Amino acid sequence: MTVASGGPPLDRLCALVKRESLGGAYALLTFEHEEVSRALAGQFAMIQPEISGDLLLRRPFSIMDVDSATGRFTIFLKAVGAGSKAVFDLRAGERARVLGPLGHGFSLPAASERVVMVGGGYGVAPFALFSRVLKPSPPFHLFYGGRSAAELPLVRELERRGIPLTLSTDDGTRGEKGRVTGPLVPALSVGEGTVRLYACGPEAMMHAVAGIAAEREIPCEVSLDPWMGCGIGTCLGCVVKIQEPGEGRPRNRPACTEGPVFDSRRVIWPQGGPA
Ligand SMILES: Cc1cc2nc3c(=O)[nH]c(=O)nc-3n(C[C@H](O)[C@H](O)[C@H](O)COP(=O)(O)OP(=O)(O)OC[C@H]3O[C@@H](n4cnc5c(N)ncnc54)[C@H](O)[C@@H]3O)c2cc1C
Repeated sequence: MTVASGGPPLDRLCALVKRESLGGAYALLTFEHEEVSRALAGQFAMIQPEISGDLLLRRPFSIMDVDSATGRFTIFLKAVGAGSKAVFDLRAGERARVLGPLGHGFSLPAASERVVMVGGGYGVAPFALFSRVLKPSPPFHLFYGGRSAAELPLVRELERRGIPLTLSTDDGTRGEKGRVTGPLVPALSVGEGTVRLYACGPEAMMHAVAGIAAEREIPCEVSLDPWMGCGIGTCLGCVVKIQEPGEGRPRNRPACTEGPVFDSRRVIWPQGGPA
């Protein structure tokens, strides 16, 4: 069972209070939004600059950190297309329309479980907040993978927070060379307690992690990343196929309201599966 928000989402026109460039297409953006500052790990917000030309739709971004005392929240953003670039280009003091917090967060582990998180690319973002929630126990570890060292811009921030990390890159420029699942697999059988897996990143990565979990009968949650139009279950742009136990066939579920976090055993992957 995933954890729903304590409060309803609110649409606010709010200020960008801090912008920190992380190099290349990456930045940390902090906004003032009281309701989102109480978000749970795994929830997200739909964001669009106040002045955004012909961009009709907001874009979804995971909540990377919150500070309910100041009413602020932070996202870790990679500019990939027009919508994310418009948010990336915001300067401190400019305003954005922010709707959130949205979706369901990650389930909390039992005290006896060992948490293993797997983040690929910008998918690492929710694990910064989740690690804060987990501290000081149960034990947790984050596997963070990217194409190259330049695609792991959050490492310093995660280290600063004292999050135990294993890094990997496809080209070997940082951490272990190869896919993030390379160092993950042996780590699953080392250490005390039963493991609970959480993954967020490119679909192929989450599919692979879901396969590893299924093979070993490890509980696993994935935060899916479909194209999303409204964030409130109306446009149905983000439907994913989910097979619930007791239902005769998989059903299309909006990832924005019923996810984005799902039990990996329930997900019907476009690639087939489990991997
Ligand atoms: C729940 C959720 C949480 C997210 N959290 C973050 C986050 O914390 N940080 C962050 O930087 N981004 C995050 N994203 C992704 C971000 O919203 C996308 O980058 C954005 O929707 C793409 O919009 P765009 O206008 O920039 O690109 P577009 O112009 O719409 O697309 C640019 C290119 O990216 C492809 N693309 C667009 N969306 C996706 C997608 N979801 N998956 C794969 N390919 C896609 C398009 O096909 C196109 O090739 C999240 C997405 C979801 C659904």
